[in-house]
Order: sequence, then C-alpha cells, then structure tokens
Amino acid sequence: MTNLPTDANQPLSLIYLDANATTQVLPQAAAAALSTMETLFGNPSSSHVTGLQAKQIMDKTRQQAKQIVGADSGKIIFTSGATEGIQTAILSALINAKKNLNNTISNGKDYCLLYGATEHKAVPESLKHWNEILEINAEVKEIPVDELGQLDMDFIAKEVPNALMICTMAVNNETGVYQNINLLDKTIRANNPNTAWMVDCVQALGKTSLNLNQTSIDYAPFSGHKLYAPKGIGFMYVKENAPFTAFIAGGGQESGLRSGTENLPGLAALSVIFSMLLGESESSFAPVETLELFRQQIVSALTKAFPEIVFNNSFEHSVATTINFAIPGFSSKEIMDLFDAANIRVSSGSACSSKVTRSFVLDAMGLPAWQSESAIRMSFGPAMTQTQIDIACNRIASAAQALLQSCLTLDLNSTDTMDSHNINDKAELDGLVQFKVGGSCSWLYVDKKSNSAVFIDPLPEVSNRLQTLLTCRGLKLVAVIDSHGHADHESCRTSIAKEFLAQQQADTLGWPDNTPTINIHGNQYQYISLGKKWLIKVPTPGHTDDSISLILCEPVQASTDNLVVHYAFCGDLILMDSLGRTNFSTSSAPDMYTSLQLLKSLIGNDSLICPSHDYNNEFTTSISAEMSRNSLLTQVIENSINSKEFSIQKYIMDKRIIDESGSEIMCGALIGDCDKKPVREYDSASLAEAMKHSNTIKLIDIREPHEYVLQHDESFAENVPLTRLVQFVQEHQQDKQTQFVLVCRSGSRSHLAAQALSRLGFDQVGHLKGGYALHQY
Ligand code: PLP
Repeated sequence: MTNLPTDANQPLSLIYLDANATTQVLPQAAAAALSTMETLFGNPSSSHVTGLQAKQIMDKTRQQAKQIVGADSGKIIFTSGATEGIQTAILSALINAKKNLNNTISNGKDYCLLYGATEHKAVPESLKHWNEILEINAEVKEIPVDELGQLDMDFIAKEVPNALMICTMAVNNETGVYQNINLLDKTIRANNPNTAWMVDCVQALGKTSLNLNQTSIDYAPFSGHKLYAPKGIGFMYVKENAPFTAFIAGGGQESGLRSGTENLPGLAALSVIFSMLLGESESSFAPVETLELFRQQIVSALTKAFPEIVFNNSFEHSVATTINFAIPGFSSKEIMDLFDAANIRVSSGSACSSKVTRSFVLDAMGLPAWQSESAIRMSFGPAMTQTQIDIACNRIASAAQALLQSCLTLDLNSTDTMDSHNINDKAELDGLVQFKVGGSCSWLYVDKKSNSAVFIDPLPEVSNRLQTLLTCRGLKLVAVIDSHGHADHESCRTSIAKEFLAQQQADTLGWPDNTPTINIHGNQYQYISLGKKWLIKVPTPGHTDDSISLILCEPVQASTDNLVVHYAFCGDLILMDSLGRTNFSTSSAPDMYTSLQLLKSLIGNDSLICPSHDYNNEFTTSISAEMSRNSLLTQVIENSINSKEFSIQKYIMDKRIIDESGSEIMCGALIGDCDKKPVREYDSASLAEAMKHSNTIKLIDIREPHEYVLQHDESFAENVPLTRLVQFVQEHQQDKQTQFVLVCRSGSRSHLAAQALSRLGFDQVGHLKGGYALHQY
C-alpha cells in the first residue's frame, strides 16, 4: 500500500516570500501576546491593578506608535486593522464634507473624491460606499499613474480644487513603489489647502521612515499583521484638528473615538515590534541597506534562473522588500504552482476576473497585458535573514531546473546545441498533450519512437512553449494544421511552419501537399504517417466551409475495415455540450448535418473527440457522452431528423450564442446548464481510512511534471498532469471501474479532472479536497 507524501519524505523548509500579504508573528511578539492572555489579561478600562497594568501596555504602545510615525501632535487610535482605519478616515472626511456642503450653496461646483489608480481596493470601495450611503454623490475619480506607478501631479493639481477628499498611498502593496509625499503635499495644498488627505501607510511601516507631523496628511491607517504582529490589530494617525467621526460607538474606549474593549494581546505584540523598530530592544530587523542587498541577491538568482524575466517595478522607485516580475510564456498561476512545489510562497498579486488573472495595478501603470497576466510578487519583511535568502535563491534555481527538465524552457545560459541536450534527462513525453488558453485548445501529438510530432490548432499563446518543446526534445515536426480558419482567434500556424517546416508545401490549413490517399468505406482520404500511426484528413464542413477533422488511428488495412481510432480532432464540429455554430458567412447547417453523420460512421460512438474549444473544463468527449445531453446531436446520429429540420433547430440554438457569449466570440452555444456531477471528495483522514480498507485505490498526482519533480514521494502516486489527462482517458478506457483518487496542490485541478473523468464514465473517481496544501499541515 502506498502512503500520501509527507514533508518528512521531502523535507523542504518553507520559504515565505509573501510578506506584503501578511507576516508570521515574531516569537517575541507572540510571547508578549500570550503573556497578556494568561497573566496581564486585564481590561484597560478597569481601575483595579490588573486593569491598570493593561492600560500601561496600551499607553506605552501608543507612545511608541507616535514616535515611529513622527506624530508629536495628533492622535493615534488603535483599530482592528487598516481597513477599519480607512473606513474611519473616509467616514470622518465625508461627514465633514457633507456638513460643509449643507452650509454652503454649492454654486454649481462638481465635487469629486480622488484616489490613486493603484490603491488597495479597500480605498476606492470605501469611498464609493460612503459616498453613496451619505448621499454625497461626488464623482469618484481615479488619479492616473505613469509607467513607474507614480501619481500624475498635473492631474492632481487640476482636480484637487474640487476634491472633498484625496486618498493616496505611501508604498504600493503589489509593486513596492513609493510616492513622493513631499511633492504630493505641495501639489495638494497649493491647489486646495482644506481638502482631507488620507495616506495609506500600511506597506511603509518598518520599511521607510515616516514623519507625519511634517506633512499636512490628515489620516494615515496602519496594520499590525504586515509587520510581524497578529491579525486584528492596527492603528491610525489623525492629525490635530482633523475632522473626526467615530466609526464604532459604544463604551467610549479610546476616548470615545473607537469603542470596544481593546485588543490587548495585539497591542502587546505591536509594542514588541515597535521596541525593535525604535532600538529599545534587540532587533530582529535588518537595516534598509541589508534589505537592498537581499533584493539584489534574489534579483540575480531570478535573472540567472529565468534569463528572459521582466521586472515590473523600478527598483529605484520601490522599497527594497518587494519584487514584481513576469516570465514570458508562463501565467502567474503556473509560476505560483511551480514555486509552491519548491516550497516558496509567493503571490500573483492580482485580482481574479472571470477568465484571466491580471493585476489592476500593473494595468494602471500601462504595462503590456502579458506582464499583468503573468505577474508574480515576491515580498519579504525586515525580519528576513541571510540564510533564508540563500535558501530562497537555491530553490529558485531548482524551480528553473525543473522547467528545463520538462522542456518548458531552454537553457539559454548553455552553449549546447540541440543535439547535445540530454533528452533522456527529460520527463517522458509520448502521446497527446492538450494546451488550453481560456476556452480554446491546441493539441500536440508526439510519437516518441519515431521522434515525430504534429501540432493541431496552434494558438499563438502557446507558440513559444511549443517551439521550446520541439527544440528541447529534438522532435521532428511533421505538420502543423488548423482544423479550420478560426474566427475568434489568430492561429500561429504559419510562423511555426516557417520556423520548422520551411521546405514543406501545404494548403491553407497546413495540410502537406502530395500526401498518400486511402479508400475507406468507398471514399478517398489523404493521410500522413506519424511513426506507426496515421493521421487521416476528413473534410467536415459546416461550421465553416474549410473545416476538416483529423483522425489519429492505426493504419488502415482494407477499405472495409472499421478505423481503430485513438483521437478525433474535429475542430468546432462537436464541442463539449455543444455543436459548432453555423451562422458565419461560410457556415452551412446542412453541411454540418452531413459531416456529423460522416464523422460518426468513421469514428463510432466511443472514440475520444478533441475539439478546438473547451469552454467548461471538460477536456475531451465522445459522441456517446455528448448524446446523453445533446438531443439535437442524438437525432442526427440516430437519423430521426432530416437535414432541413436540423438546420431550423440549429438556427434557434445559434441565436442563443449572441445572448450568452458577451464580448467573447463563442464558437458554439452551450446546450445544458453545465452542471457537473458531484464526485467523491476525500480529506486526508478519510483517504487514509479508505486506503487501509482497500488496496485497489490508485492515487494519481495530476500536477505538471515540473511541480512533481520538485516535491513528491517516490512511493506515491503516478503522475498524470492535467495536460495529459486526455491520453490517460484514452489509455484507461477499459479501466473505468478503478478507484482513482486524484491529487494536486490545492484540490482545484484534481476536482476539475475528477469531474471530467466522472462524466466520461469513470464512476469510482474521487479527489483529495484541499490537495497537498491541506494534507501537509
Ligand atoms: N492597504 C494596503 C496597502 C494593504 O496592503 C492592505 C492589506 O493588504 C490593506 C490596506 C488592508 O489592511 P488590513 O488587512 O489590515 O485591513
């Protein structure tokens, strides 16, 4: 029986490079918090000794905070964190603004609320929220930033005269870029001496010096958990005489400015951090010069590991503790998965939209879309040590090595030629690979024995990856073929053909000239050989008039034989839960009707279909799997509808595409509601229990090979990366009753794959909920 992998098998200590998200609590701070919970647990409002002792801690922390932020005058109010500080500041400023607006005739002035385009979402969301609740109805305006992330001073000078409030940040959380506070101060006050000004100082604390009293900043929120104190404690600075309205009313704590019994453990921990910053106790914090050396070391390690890396922040304009970068050809999700496998925690620093993950901060800086979609943030705090940096740099090198081994990158530092690459070192590649970009698919088929490959429906996004793979493995590209002229995306077929098939003459879809033909069931078809297999071209017009299907099968012996099919690449003829649309100018529904019947006669009901779209993460399908939910297809296959009736129904179906697809060009309308079958979910306890009682459970690690090599247990599961799932389905058609349990990093890929397998008849499939992430802890 196999065991789940544990850290004990591959002991990789955790390297945490996500300090801008949060930090671990320093042991000294945790000890102080614990002591206030166990011993000095008083309520600072109580007048007995235990209460007085608690109050002393609070008073001390407040004094320290004043010193650290340079606030001899003004108030320091303890809060639950920065988001509360932001609310309090915005509420205070807007209630005051409303009062003033009520007292004056607005003389037609259009008021606005200004915020920097790269602010943390807590700022614009709170501005919009309170603007609406208080019925101020000012225009909420974003201050643009330049390519360095610096605020546009001309815009501020122009807009601030009408601003009821302006919100900026000291240091950006995604890029570490700092703003010139003195210049901002001058620009704002020269144009509006009275507007309320909040500066979010969350990421500045402990990383740059602050002198709030020497500025005209009215409010500055801070957060404890970004600097080694626990979550749930923060504070805010409020300038002397700045308007103030309590956000939380109640028992009158914090002189009535913020009610609620104080978070004494948090305050005690904060006090320890402050003592270190003030040099009052032995400090765990490295000076800024050391942090800069750390940054240099990481940047060199990254550049050596990934020579094509692009840094998204200018180091000259950023604090030393944040590095934001992108690696051409890799999404942030892929790099996150890779680093997670190397036990380095980083962040994609981005917000999720429905389809792609991208960074609104980098978008605001006007960086190219790919940089924003691929952005990775590495951030560390001042408690970082040289040893941790050294380990991080070694791990970065191993992660890059894992990509090399998977042929996802080429060794640009090496002077080796293609021939001298040690191909035997590379992870095995034989068979079908699926590349997915959004809802579109490209397919690569490799025949290892003959070292040949064919690429079908090549998307430009995977062009580099494919070229790297071909070069790295020394594969001979036999053909690069589109299943039709795509309306929704560019193909990179011609550029790949130019690079790898310069001598080949081919038609407009890339099918090579002068290929042999074979008679199957009375029709002549062209084919090409891939090792011992054939790729047969079958014209299947309908979606477009040039549509073809490509059938990968065993060589045909006699014209009456049924094909032994491995995969049918049918473009947009049959899509998962759909049929390709037939409302383009070159479409024909009657032709599609004929093509569907022809395809079925050649591949039968159970061959795997590999379409050029997968809008719903189902990976592959078959005619029988589609017939169970696509009644129109069923009627065509069963001949219970004629071509004319099909065309009418198809017209109705296609009309739905326009309504449902939004801005994306969908190549087929989804028929069902895409509800997925529930699959069995295990946690580590229930999986261990199930494995105790059954020796037939088969664990499958579905991470990509580069993640797998960095962190896996030899005795553990077989590796079937998601990109190879379709081949797994093909090879296990007779194994559908096996109890496969799929595992990945976080449980999301394993869930998708298990659902896909379940739909295709793998009835016993399950997955490990939460993946390795939850199993290890
Ligand atoms: N502002 C910035 C710049 C931040 O980085 C964060 C946290 O990510 C916040 C505000 C919100 O802080 P908190 O988690 O303390 O509410």
